Amino acid sequence: MFKKSIKAYEKACQVIPGGVDSPVRAFKSVGGTPPFIKKGKGAYLYDVDGNKYVDFVQSWGPLIFGHCDKDIEKVVIETAKMGLSFGAPTNLETKLAREIVDMYDNIDKVRFVSSGTEATMSAIRLARGVTNKNDIIKFEGCYHGHSDSLLVQAGSGMATFGSPSSPGVPADLTKHTLLCEYNNIEQLEKCFEESSDIACIIIEPIAGNMGLVPATNEFLATCRELCDKHGALLIFDEVMSGFRASLKGASGILDVKADILTFGKVIGAGMPVGAFAASKEIMSHLSPEGKIYQAGTLSGNPVAMAAGLTSLRKLKANPKIYEDLEKKAKRLVNGFKKVADRYNIPLQVNTRGSMFGFFFCENEPTNFKEVGLCNFERFAKFHQEMLRRGFYFACSQYETGFICTKITNKEIDLCIQAADEIMKEFV
Ligand SMILES: *Cc1c(COP(=O)(O)O)cnc(C)c1O
Repeated sequence: MFKKSIKAYEKACQVIPGGVDSPVRAFKSVGGTPPFIKKGKGAYLYDVDGNKYVDFVQSWGPLIFGHCDKDIEKVVIETAKMGLSFGAPTNLETKLAREIVDMYDNIDKVRFVSSGTEATMSAIRLARGVTNKNDIIKFEGCYHGHSDSLLVQAGSGMATFGSPSSPGVPADLTKHTLLCEYNNIEQLEKCFEESSDIACIIIEPIAGNMGLVPATNEFLATCRELCDKHGALLIFDEVMSGFRASLKGASGILDVKADILTFGKVIGAGMPVGAFAASKEIMSHLSPEGKIYQAGTLSGNPVAMAAGLTSLRKLKANPKIYEDLEKKAKRLVNGFKKVADRYNIPLQVNTRGSMFGFFFCENEPTNFKEVGLCNFERFAKFHQEMLRRGFYFACSQYETGFICTKITNKEIDLCIQAADEIMKEFV
């Protein structure tokens, strides 16, 4: 079934480390080798062996309209014909920025970059520059891209200051990152007691990088309170949840407002786009208006802007999309849950708009440590068997699943049926 993919993977491994350009693609946590993709169409992915899969990954989030959406495809081709990049301003950037700014009360200006990593990295620099402080608070299990100061893990003992989680990151570059448990108010308060130099909290208000684990309202309210009290800024990293959890992302379904928002994934509809946004007061510190430096040769790339603009306008024009996507997400995971109950398999499920998560464990995880208690073996088995049956899920328990507009109840019901076949065999 995977003959050509296995061969392609061997060839790739000769010239690309681990055969992939982003580690999670390598299927290390579920075993086997990744299918090499030939094309996508609507809800489906097609691999080089001719297998067809319902795609619940959607390029890890961006493709809310599925593959080859007609409107997005058309505008990308038309824009590409006018030139791929100019390194000079275009109206497309203003239009996309305007669409975003008009959606939020707390945002006046946007700066575009080319990835989520760049967006969060720049947002943190902005927060530090504006507050003139150095320390940042990050939560275990939240992912904000791979920049140095964010690759941290819990240090030894009681220390809240993180140590590097990757070789190549000097401890000097993570010593300003305080690491705290997600949804743990006590620890968060302790961070502010330990340091009077906190520039910002950065958080995924709906965490999607340890499976789907939403922050509690109380926790987010405490983040807001402590930031206000200590003159720090609150950054909502909405690279995944933005235009996914609702039209206004997590910000659209939560009471708490952030000072800086970061975007990626859906904002580019499959093209490399990231962005960070804030009030005009905060953004005025950014070069060339202010002194905080930030730049990018391909930032605001016209083809990418055109894709994002078309996608966002489609979403805005049809806000019912999110209800529909959430209904489908619920149908899927509630279907899984029913099957799991039938076979006495502990399973926890959750959704936020078009995002869904499921964990093989007894209790709903509220932080990274609790996610670690899940049955990873079961997840790996589930993943392998789903893949064999033509359902493409993210290859790790630490990821979130996505519904796109092209997935119908038919695909979902077939997937639940497959789950029944699979879980029946679990012991
Ligand atoms: C994916 C992701 C990022 C990193 O974005 P890249 O485009 O992969 O650099 C940052 N934050 C969150 C919440 C993400 O999900």
